Amino acid sequence: MTLIDADSPLEGGCTCRAVRFRLTSRPLFVHCCHCTWCQRESGASFALNAMIESGRVELLSGAPELVETPSASGAGQRIARCPRCRIAVWSHYAGAGDAIRFVRVGTLDDPDQLPPDIHIFTASKQRWVVLPPGTPAVPEYYDRRQHWPAESLARRAALRAAAAPPKDAA
Ligand SMILES: [Zn+2]
Ligand SMILES: [Zn+2]
Repeated sequence: MTLIDADSPLEGGCTCRAVRFRLTSRPLFVHCCHCTWCQRESGASFALNAMIESGRVELLSGAPELVETPSASGAGQRIARCPRCRIAVWSHYAGAGDAIRFVRVGTLDDPDQLPPDIHIFTASKQRWVVLPPGTPAVPEYYDRRQHWPAESLARRAALRAAAAPPKDAA
């Protein structure tokens, strides 16, 4: 469950404050990823990523730079970083492409608004990490249809429909 409503804008940014952004709605879903790649990239124990349509991330200032970075799938990811302090604010993965951003929840001014909807790749979680009861947890990845709320599935379907070329294109 995500907690934001229209009265509490989800704003965030990098450490030097050159890059600032706002999420204009709740995200689709929030992953807490315990894979070894996320551990290395964060230098910590897991990554907390809010998946949201790119069009719902409003850039308030700055121009994040996209850095090509290897990914577990081999297809690569592009990490958007502040050109000055190099803090990562979101990523694009090959699967969803440019349409969806994985916003790093820790860059939000109030990250408590977006707790995880699911813990993934728990098979490789660091042993001291104790997962909370009540939040779904899976050893690797999961089936979206089993876990996403209907509203998020509909938003994703709309995004894919919009990305498809119009049938009557000349
Ligand atoms: Zn910065
Ligand atoms: Zn991961």
